[in-house]
Amino acid sequence: MENVLPPANPQANLRNYQETYQTFDWEDIAQEFSWHQTGKINIAYEAIDRHAEDPMRSNRFCLIYEDEHRKERITYHQMRDLSNKFANVLKKLGVKKGDRVFIFLPRCSEYYIAMAGCAKVGAIFSPLFEALMEMALRERLKDGGAKVLVTTPRMAARVPFSEFPDLNHIILVGSGNIVLRPGEVSWEEEMAGASYDFDIEWMDLEDPLYIIYTSGSTGDPKGVLHVHRDMIGYLITARWVLDLRDDDCLWTTSEPGWITGTVYGVFAPWLCGVNNFVRGGRFDLEGWCRSIEANRITVWYSSPTVFTRMMEREKDIAQTCDLSSVRHILSVGGTLSSEVVFWARRFFKIPIHDTWWMTETGMIMIANYPGMPIKPGSIGKPFPGIVAAIVDEQGNTLPPLTLGNLAIRKGWPAMMRGIWRDETRYQAYFTREPWYISGDLAYEDEDGYFYLQGREDYQIKVDGVMVSTTEVEEALRRHPAVGDAGVVGNPDAQRGTAIKAFIALKPGFSPSAEVQEEIREFMRRYFSPRLVPKEIEFRPEIPRGRDGMVIRRSLKAWALGLPG
Ligand code: ATP
Ligand code: MG
Repeated sequence: MENVLPPANPQANLRNYQETYQTFDWEDIAQEFSWHQTGKINIAYEAIDRHAEDPMRSNRFCLIYEDEHRKERITYHQMRDLSNKFANVLKKLGVKKGDRVFIFLPRCSEYYIAMAGCAKVGAIFSPLFEALMEMALRERLKDGGAKVLVTTPRMAARVPFSEFPDLNHIILVGSGNIVLRPGEVSWEEEMAGASYDFDIEWMDLEDPLYIIYTSGSTGDPKGVLHVHRDMIGYLITARWVLDLRDDDCLWTTSEPGWITGTVYGVFAPWLCGVNNFVRGGRFDLEGWCRSIEANRITVWYSSPTVFTRMMEREKDIAQTCDLSSVRHILSVGGTLSSEVVFWARRFFKIPIHDTWWMTETGMIMIANYPGMPIKPGSIGKPFPGIVAAIVDEQGNTLPPLTLGNLAIRKGWPAMMRGIWRDETRYQAYFTREPWYISGDLAYEDEDGYFYLQGREDYQIKVDGVMVSTTEVEEALRRHPAVGDAGVVGNPDAQRGTAIKAFIALKPGFSPSAEVQEEIREFMRRYFSPRLVPKEIEFRPEIPRGRDGMVIRRSLKAWALGLPG
């Protein structure tokens, strides 16, 4: 296999990475916004109203929405009116600048209108992933101090309202004929009665725009705070990483409850004024491929899980769908294997471009660009204006090909501005000046390409030697009786940390001391005595998150005997 692939598109928006990286200045990008001249700042103005006033863009679709039951198209011009209406609804309910409005909806047009309306009144919105259950909702609504919740009657049943005295209003989408209780209003009724005119709230660049709670795979979820200034980073990454041009139709498959869905599914394409597609409902490969074909998607931003499913079903898809409209593909959120990159090159005639970033960074930090050679397996190179390095425990930069913590020099426009109500947790990212410490482990090669190696706390120190929990898990899973495995480090008097493994056995095997010993022996013989778990506990299932990642904090809670 080749180690380096030539640029997928030499005509890309970012043609010369090296040169641009050297001459880049954030100030040049800031000048593109109308606030640079007028001093009037609001991301919703730049992302919607500005295009609505531009005859070249006003009739493009900021939202092409479809699911199994609905198909809707909203132009930038219409979105200006709809978001003004929703801003008026919020104003009528007494929402002011800085109030928190939580949005707990399935993907639907109202979700997008709500986000835009919140920005227009200067409220801080917080998108909630639709599958969250009562406990997760309680944590987030309480922490965020929600004043208004936008939801559906069905999903409202999961919200323990009585526990939130500050939650004054619930806006119900699709309330139909149900009898509204005190505090509840109907989206449809309120929107019908609201004016199309709204005096947008002008903000400061540093004023909050939204709070996104992280998935909580490594600890309690954090309320990551982002501000209007983020728009500088959204615009330029959309142009250079997503390579968006005027005639594109983008589909970012992530939902708005995750940062990718909010940034690259909403604001980034809107700032560019391109057509933006959203598909609601659950993942369904055939349906997704039909959507690509029917909507002539040109730029597709998805995740490794989706690409892998596609690769497995390649023959069926090739026979039923024409995916030739796609000219640029990107990935985020999990390890993109070289195999998948090469497969895409054969199947789509273009490779997949991996991107690395996180909720805290607010925008893509490290990426493969269509105008730059790709090294499959690498997450690429830092975006212009971003200084990335591999650092040790003291914040010293490490030489090439050395594993360490992936760090970014702090101060880029979309960097989080806080962890909501938790200054200590915020400061913990910035203990090694001048760096933001990501908590992801990586190394850099001699050509400046970065390679991600998992998360820092996936590494545990046993007898003074670093052990990767994922390595142990993978080894355990090879044992014929093991269906799934999750590993954590347990404090241990002799060894500092000892390996504790939770194991879900395959059907037909029952937990017993014999099986435990057999697994230990298997690890000792076929792998290494270093990887043998000191303790093995059997569980019916190993908790895994959205990307199939083990939810390590649940395992830690189990290990400590706390509710997981
Ligand atoms: P929490 O911080 O609460 O544990 P989370 O880290 O899963 O949640 P996100 O901010 O959505 O929440 O995810 C960011 C993480 O996703 C990164 O730190 C990294 O580990 C992983 N990630 C992002 N991009 C990539 C990529 N291209 N390849 C592999 N992993 C990636
Ligand atoms: Mg994280």
